[in-house]
Amino acid sequence: MTFEELIAHPTKGGEEAIALAKIIYNYSQDCLMAHSIRAFQQHILEKYHAHYDIVILKRKGLFTITGKKSTLNFFSTGVFVLVDADEPHDQQRACIAHEIYHLILAAKYISGNDDDQHKLMKKLPSCREVEDICDVFANDLCTLHHKFYESDEAVKKGIFHNLPIYSLPKTSPKSYQVPL
Ligand SMILES: [Zn+2]
Repeated sequence: MTFEELIAHPTKGGEEAIALAKIIYNYSQDCLMAHSIRAFQQHILEKYHAHYDIVILKRKGLFTITGKKSTLNFFSTGVFVLVDADEPHDQQRACIAHEIYHLILAAKYISGNDDDQHKLMKKLPSCREVEDICDVFANDLCTLHHKFYESDEAVKKGIFHNLPIYSLPKTSPKSYQVPL
């Protein structure tokens, strides 16, 4: 719907907004570890003054094809984190956490977006010690998340207590006039 159509047919625009809210909500079910990814980006931004894109891609049969439950696939301004869609939900999240630590270890190379730095990141060593330390990070981060979801008090913070919201006052504009 164009801006002009929206102005001409606000009711139709509202129906479209409701339909899109459902579509976006359904996508959100697949946006695993979204807060942690945002937090990683914040860490990179504050420490290296750089933005880094992370896109999660779920792939069925990834383990069968690659022998890995998750893997990194770099592109010019960021990285695809491929996760095996056949793994249980919590395992997919732990895998993403594991990959985040690979990225944190690589972060010293992220100080801009030129290709050389991405080539360096692609050469990151992957040995038993690195994999183990990524697991330590993943286990700890996921434990912190688990503790959050176990706490009713913490979860309550995420509930919308004042719905519906309106960006504009619903009452007559007259009542918002500044009194003389
Ligand atoms: Zn790994």
